[in-house]
Amino acid sequence: LETKLPKVGTTIFTVMSQLAIEHGAVNLGQGFPDFNVPERLIEALDRAMREGKNQYAPMTGIPALRQAISAKTQRCYGYRPDPDAEITVVSGASEAIFDAVAAVVHPGDEVIVLDPCYDCYEPAIDLAGGRAVHVPLDPRTFAPDWNLIRAAVTPKTRLLMINSPHNPSGAMFTVDDIAELTALLRDTGIYLLSDEVYEHIVFDGRVHESVLRYPELRRRAFVVSSFGKTYHCTGWKVGYCIAPAELSTELRKVHQYNTFCTFAPAQWAFAEMIDAEPGHYEQLGAFYEAKRDRFREQLLTTRLKPLPVPGGYFQLVDYSSVSDLDDAAFCRWLTVEKGVAAIPLSPFYESPPTGQRLARLCFAKNEATLDAAIERLQKL
Ligand code: PMP
Ligand code: GLN
Repeated sequence: LETKLPKVGTTIFTVMSQLAIEHGAVNLGQGFPDFNVPERLIEALDRAMREGKNQYAPMTGIPALRQAISAKTQRCYGYRPDPDAEITVVSGASEAIFDAVAAVVHPGDEVIVLDPCYDCYEPAIDLAGGRAVHVPLDPRTFAPDWNLIRAAVTPKTRLLMINSPHNPSGAMFTVDDIAELTALLRDTGIYLLSDEVYEHIVFDGRVHESVLRYPELRRRAFVVSSFGKTYHCTGWKVGYCIAPAELSTELRKVHQYNTFCTFAPAQWAFAEMIDAEPGHYEQLGAFYEAKRDRFREQLLTTRLKPLPVPGGYFQLVDYSSVSDLDDAAFCRWLTVEKGVAAIPLSPFYESPPTGQRLARLCFAKNEATLDAAIERLQKL
């Protein structure tokens, strides 16, 4: 078999979760909450299934959910996307990313990604016949270097992919970044894919600079979000893409032959939940901020050094005072020998910075889980 994805193995998230199970480690690796979804969502899902909403949903998503997403986008970002032409419900942000890339990237096109970047970006680009052009973020602050990004643009650049709040670092685009981005893309035909799955998990009074707030950006953008992050249900795999009509039309051509539609009962449940409990996503930042603060406080009792976390639900730690192993070896050792699973950063890079000694810990966990992890980390 001549593989189409020679560089791809099993994802680091699967590898580390498997290792955590084998060794009975506390799993702070793969990003998923270990607490349950809101009760109302379970009731709404149960009701939808009992009412027989179990057949194919409309290809673009049920109208009630697209309406709810549109109204919520207006509330959050002051922009009301057309629910019929501009919103598509898909099976997780991963599907949105795959569909968008497949829809616009032609063989030979270049796609700029900012390293470290989420691991599904490059395989999607490769399968479309494109070439990922990796531009590093600052190795400490994970801020974009606009000079480097500008220098990476060529006549072949078709798409730029951004992610704020950022996985794995939690870094967030500032208003200045948005201004740089706008100037960079002005007068080009480059599309933008903005991965905003952690849009509601932002801390310390920061504002999430959604691309949807900015008319000049959103007219060339696929903006991707995920109910998995917002409603603690990563296993449901429901997300959506907001894009101008012309781009949504192209994305839907892929979506309709990729999955056709997304789990129908969950769509009914989210439609109800968004309208009935806007407080859920409005308070999500505060909910996770309390977890972040408590976890960071506890980390100060270990030899791991926590980096700042502006948003998202991951804590990067510098482990250089504990070990000189590279990050993959360190995370394996931490899981197998010390009983705490973590994610190395190197799989998020084309070429990881030499000597980087950082690991990612997920704090979307119950206090008992985090306490158990800290107890083990104190022994490092
Ligand atoms: N993008 C980023 C940055 C993510 O962290 C994730 C989930 N870990 C995804 C996309 C995929 O989201 P989903 O599970 O909804 O496919
Ligand atoms: N997005 C999750 C993370 O970053 C993992 C998703 C997955 O396992 N596919 O940990």
